[in-house]
Amino acid sequence: LHDAFDAEYQLEAVTLDGEEISLYANTGLEVSNDLINAKYLDGIGLYRTEAWFMQQNAFPSLAEQEAWYREILAAYHPSPVTMRTLDIGGDKCLSYFNFSEENPFLGWRGIRISLDHPELFLEQVKAMLKANMGLGNLKIMLPMVADVNEVESSKRLIQQAFFELQDEWLPEQGKLEMPQVGIMLEVPSSVYLLPEWAKCVDFCSVGSNDLTQYMLAVDRTNARVANLFDSYHPAILRVLNDIAIQCIDYQLPFSLCGELAADPEGALLLVAMGYRDLSMSPSAINKVKYVLRRLNASDMEQLLMTCLAAKNAKQVHRLLREFIIHHK
Ligand code: PEP
Ligand code: MG
Repeated sequence: LHDAFDAEYQLEAVTLDGEEISLYANTGLEVSNDLINAKYLDGIGLYRTEAWFMQQNAFPSLAEQEAWYREILAAYHPSPVTMRTLDIGGDKCLSYFNFSEENPFLGWRGIRISLDHPELFLEQVKAMLKANMGLGNLKIMLPMVADVNEVESSKRLIQQAFFELQDEWLPEQGKLEMPQVGIMLEVPSSVYLLPEWAKCVDFCSVGSNDLTQYMLAVDRTNARVANLFDSYHPAILRVLNDIAIQCIDYQLPFSLCGELAADPEGALLLVAMGYRDLSMSPSAINKVKYVLRRLNASDMEQLLMTCLAAKNAKQVHRLLREFIIHHK
């Protein structure tokens, strides 16, 4: 079956009834030849910058970061690359920035660390802005946002980085561009702030891994409760559906970049909800495309209605299995 998936990589991700879906990759380390060869990829929907930081022995300098980001942006140019600012804390630690907490997933994580260390954030953003010069395919995404103040402060720092660079800049060095700035929707509170986000960010992307963890109060790394971590829980499907409805209503561009999009059953439910931009592990892209190309969006919508009304995740899994068997 893998050969069948791979045989279709050059084809468009379009449903039988003509709904076009854009598929992006989640990545975070070196430029991968596989990804560059995948010319039919629509871009990088999530570039996890912390993955590279985790391989270093000290905080990389601005110049080192700039060179690194430029390599990534250039490799995928002209497709967009959504670079997420540092998302450490939780289960992701840097050997040179060590701290321990009793509840790391509820602690100092993502944007909280960046805002407590604006010097690190400014340096990272400056490196991204410089790397983007002459390319223009950078988008910046903020992780773990829970509050409007965090976004306002981050945007002020991004503007500060931009103006400071502009002041240092000589005209012959090229033009600095202000990229789009968006947020991850992965903390439940952020879902209820969509009217505010629509006014202050350019896009949002659902992190279904953390959203599932925080909605269900299940540590995503704890094997003892792994059976309870299920993004097909009706409450999760309902919140994902509400996000799509609100984003469409507010005309806020939205996507999803958690593992749910990498599962064909998840992808088809997301398409039924109205998601048209899905970002996933590169290894899942051909498989997801294969399945979407064989289904009608209208059939998926009917399935979605029954799944949204299910009383538990087990029932949702059964409905999905029956649907797939029926459409084989
Ligand atoms: C997520 O939380 O769904 C996500 C995409 O981010 P990460 O897995 O890096 O926390
Ligand atoms: Mg996350």
